[in-house]
Amino acid sequence: MFGRSLFAVFAVVAVASGCGGGSESYASVVDKAKNDKKLVIGVKADQPGLGLRTPDGSFSGFDIEVAKYVAKQLGVEPSGITFKETVSANREAFIEQGQVDLVVATYSITDARKQKVSFAGPYFVAGQDLLVRADDAALTGPEALNGKKLCSVAGSTPAQKVKSEYAKEVQLQEERTYSACVDRVLGGQLDAITTDNVILAGYAAQHSGKLKVVGKTFSTEKYGIGLKKDDTNGRKAVNDALEKMFSDGSWTKALQASVGASGFTLPQVPQLERY
Ligand code: GLU
Repeated sequence: MFGRSLFAVFAVVAVASGCGGGSESYASVVDKAKNDKKLVIGVKADQPGLGLRTPDGSFSGFDIEVAKYVAKQLGVEPSGITFKETVSANREAFIEQGQVDLVVATYSITDARKQKVSFAGPYFVAGQDLLVRADDAALTGPEALNGKKLCSVAGSTPAQKVKSEYAKEVQLQEERTYSACVDRVLGGQLDAITTDNVILAGYAAQHSGKLKVVGKTFSTEKYGIGLKKDDTNGRKAVNDALEKMFSDGSWTKALQASVGASGFTLPQVPQLERY
């Protein structure tokens, strides 16, 4: 009797101590959250209103609020969350390698990404748009990009779409982050940035009078929460958490407090796509 329970204790310790940053030792993120009361969550660090690292080292924005809400539903308090910066190109790899347990980082659900990771959601629907200098009257939409220097981020769906649909007419410059693109457009080396309208709205508000969003979306970007492929329990638990966030008013409150500041027109609660 005693021998058996001692063995059980050792087994739990062995599982818990075997884990690095992410959930590689657990079958599901649900088990890690329940046992460790800790999660590592991948977020953006340079997108105002969505995922931004503040000077004191903490993170703020809508994605951060969604991450905190979901973590809490899984049994993890904000103090148990480690936010880890991800950029567009390393999100799948971070999940696959177990460097993060979840990714909440303006992360579009796509069939190609579903080959590598799972998604809960969507928890927000955005659309690809353009950000240009405020005094630029000529760049009115993607069809006006002919001969222009366009910036986007490697590993993002907007960069991919531009490459496949506009590559012949535009000169695409890929950066690692959107803030690097913003610097180059402000500096006059590049003409425009393309990514999701809600991301661009944050930069336009940050550089009010200098940058503007064109306001003509040309894709649908459904933001999901990324987690390990085939973590069916995790996907269900995260979807349940999102459903609760939608229905108890927390989603609208978080959106108004974060994205609302940029003047972005707030959408309705999206429809979850459980699969
Ligand atoms: N939502 C798009 C994507 O997942 C663009 C934003 C981003 O790069 O994070 O690629």
